[in-house]
Amino acid sequence: MRNVLLTLVAVSALLLGPAVGLAAAQNAKALLQAADNAVGAGKVNSIQYTGTGRISYLGQNFTTVDDWPRVDLKSWSQTIDYGNKSAKEEMIRVQGNNPPRGGGAGFPITGEQRSTTLVSGNYAWNLNAQGQPQAQNDDAEVRQFMIWVTPHGFIKAAMADPNATVTDREFVGAGRTLRVVGFTTMGKYKATGEFDAQNMLERVVTWIPNPVMGDMQVEIRYSDWRDIGNGIKAPFHIHMHQGDHPLVRGMNYMDVQAGDVKANVQSASLTVPDAVRTAAAPLVNIQTTKLADGVWLIGGGSHNSVAVEFKDFAAIIEAPLDDARTNAVIAETKRLIPPGKQIRYVVNTHHHWDHSGGLRAAYAEGATIVTNEMNKDFYERVQLVPQPRTLSPDRLSQFPFATTGPGPGKLEAFRDRYAISDGDQSIISYHVEGLNHAADMAIVYLPKSKILVSADMGPPAAGTPVENVSPNSVALYNNIKRLKLDVTQHVPIHGNPSSNADFERTVGPAAARARPAAEGG
Ligand SMILES: [Zn+2]
Repeated sequence: MRNVLLTLVAVSALLLGPAVGLAAAQNAKALLQAADNAVGAGKVNSIQYTGTGRISYLGQNFTTVDDWPRVDLKSWSQTIDYGNKSAKEEMIRVQGNNPPRGGGAGFPITGEQRSTTLVSGNYAWNLNAQGQPQAQNDDAEVRQFMIWVTPHGFIKAAMADPNATVTDREFVGAGRTLRVVGFTTMGKYKATGEFDAQNMLERVVTWIPNPVMGDMQVEIRYSDWRDIGNGIKAPFHIHMHQGDHPLVRGMNYMDVQAGDVKANVQSASLTVPDAVRTAAAPLVNIQTTKLADGVWLIGGGSHNSVAVEFKDFAAIIEAPLDDARTNAVIAETKRLIPPGKQIRYVVNTHHHWDHSGGLRAAYAEGATIVTNEMNKDFYERVQLVPQPRTLSPDRLSQFPFATTGPGPGKLEAFRDRYAISDGDQSIISYHVEGLNHAADMAIVYLPKSKILVSADMGPPAAGTPVENVSPNSVALYNNIKRLKLDVTQHVPIHGNPSSNADFERTVGPAAARARPAAEGG
């Protein structure tokens, strides 16, 4: 009996499965053919958009529930060569009238901030201020994938997927039904595109990998489709979200209005510079320096961490960047401390993604995350959820644990001050007031060694002219005075330790100058 049932199930799966799949695939093909006819995607070998608009700094919002900090795009251009899988994006960012709050740039931006990012197949690079190529080959996959969610790229990539599907989706509130095409490309990236009654692509929704967000949502709306000659149409308005999640409304990433769109431009394909072609894959580099008894600076990359040994456990200040970096910092800390001592705490300076991208690794390690109470909801309900991350699995997503508790996930939130102490060694997190960079910013003080750990507030190089001292460094100075901290050494998350004597000499005059006259002296 059991065998018969199994056989029946197997037979019906064979009959129904492929039949249903085939019908959906045929429909997708017909719709995509109509979409191709409508905008001439098949005739577009390369395309160049130029325009103006605004762009944001991803993961650098003032608080976890604010929109990304945005600046104006004085100019923007994107040139894509579909056959060569190459794309070049150039932009000039200026402050405009946007509020100078949040991170990502030294706000307000003075003058113009240029950026050029490129991809060609499996190679990616940026141009630095001198116009020299800087290899970014780790970004090549996502940059290449983004070619396939451009207006004409979507149609090309969906047509190339024999398993592309189409479904009708009724949009609540919109009073209409759109046809939604779904496809997979490059073996793992999935995208859906919504087509209107005229077979025009209105919106693309997809995911790209991100250390904080996991499979991070990207939504791109295409509108203002215009004829650009030779039976080709292109959208002149592009609006993009990145990092939307259930606790916020839309996270605006980019909005551009094209002034000009040209198809089949000359020299759209790119030559990969030799320096990029031969660049070695970046390795996680760990360099440890002892700062005091039981206190080590774990550097060697763009972001430092500080390991502190207590009598019965250890703590790490900052879990930066991503899983790879923070797992290496955890391993190094274990090497520094006696075997069997646990890393009980990981102290976070602020929520910006480059400073919190390794918190998941710390969580998986079983450490208690110490952070400002403003971050609690976002960390517990978005960033630290152990669900699978299909595009870039990390330690937490690969070793699931129950969320009903008791589980390894622990988070301590504070408003003004949080101390970890064994009576001898202590580390104390203080909330930083009056800072435009991040509302949740903490500085971390070690009273025994008089070390102060800070992020994104300098200290500036000794001898920096008073007019070049950033408001962030002045905020650091004012908070040290407010809290009456007796500091000998500054240990920044970016860069090298420096003395408080230098800090006083360099930042003191800037702080005095910035002080409102009403406060006196
Ligand atoms: Zn920051």
